[in-house]
Amino acid sequence: MLETIYLANPRGFCAGVKYAISYVETAFQENPETPLYVRKEIVHNQRVVEEMKKKGIRFISELNEVPDGATVVFSAHGVSPEVVKEATERKMKIGDATCPLVTRVHKKARNIKDTHQIIYIGHKGHDEAIGTMGEANMHLVESPEDVEALQNKITNEKPLTYLMQTTLSVEDTKNIVKKIEEVFPYVEHPQKDDICYATTERQDAVQKMLESVDAMLVIGAENSSNSVRLCQLAKKTRPASFQISKKEDVDPKHIMDSKIKILGITAGASSPQILVDEIVEEILKHFPNATVSLFPESREDTMSFKLPKELLKQY
Ligand code: SF4
Repeated sequence: MLETIYLANPRGFCAGVKYAISYVETAFQENPETPLYVRKEIVHNQRVVEEMKKKGIRFISELNEVPDGATVVFSAHGVSPEVVKEATERKMKIGDATCPLVTRVHKKARNIKDTHQIIYIGHKGHDEAIGTMGEANMHLVESPEDVEALQNKITNEKPLTYLMQTTLSVEDTKNIVKKIEEVFPYVEHPQKDDICYATTERQDAVQKMLESVDAMLVIGAENSSNSVRLCQLAKKTRPASFQISKKEDVDPKHIMDSKIKILGITAGASSPQILVDEIVEEILKHFPNATVSLFPESREDTMSFKLPKELLKQY
C-alpha cells in the first residue's frame, strides 16, 4: 500500500516555458483588437494550450492556415529560417517566443554553418530539432549506431563538430559524444554542450531520488521530450516508474500491483503545477493515508528570462 509521496524539486515549468507563456499572454493583452495566432503548441502541454484557447488565442500548425499580414507568435521550440522567410514575405507581424537557450543553439549553428560539418544530436521530428536543423546542413544522430552509420558521409573537406537538442538525456548524450570521438577522433568539441540547465537539474533531482523511492511518476505529455527522458532515466533503476499527463490517467492498480510504497513525483518542464496538484489529489483519493512532502534534498529553480520590450515585429 502506498505510504509516502515525495515531490521532486526542481520540477515542472522551466524558465523557457514561463517565458514563452508570458510572451504570448502579454502580446495578446497588449493587442486586444488583433487575432493572435501561435504556430504549433506554445509548449508541449495540452492543458496550457487549452487555457490559452479559452482566452481567445488561436493555434495553427503551419503558416498557410492564416492570411497574409496575420500576427503570429512562434512557439518555445523555435522555427527554421524557412518559416521566418515565409512570414516575412507574407508581411506577417511576428512574435518569437523561442526559449533563449534554444535560440543560442540556432546562433551557434549559423556561426559555423559555412566553416564546419555538423552532427546534430537530437530526436527526429521534434519541433526543436526541425527548427535548429533548418539553420544549416546537419547530420542527425539519435544513437551511437547512427554515428557509426555516418562514416561514409563525413568528408575531410571541413572540420567536424556537433550541436544538440536542449532536452536530451545527459547520460545517453555522453555515450553518443563518446562514440563520435571514437569514430571521428579529430572532432572539435564545442566549449559547452547544449543540454539546458532545466533538463540537467530535473534529471539530477530524479537521479538523487531514485535510491529512496520504489518508483517515479513523471507528469508530462507524450510529446514532451524532457518528460520522456525523465521517465526513461527513472525506469533504468526503478522499472515500475511511469508517465502520465492528466489525473484521469492515474491507475491505482499499477501502484498496488507494483508494490509501490514510496512514490516520487516529478513533472516535465512544460507541465503546470496545477496538474501536479490534481494528480496528487487523485492518488490520495485511492491511498488516503499516504503522506506528501518535498523530497529532502530538493531546491528551487530560480532561473528567469526577461521579455523583450517589443514583442511583435514586422521583419
Ligand atoms: S527545457 Fe530548457 S531549452 Fe526547453 S524551454 Fe525549458 S529552459 Fe528552454
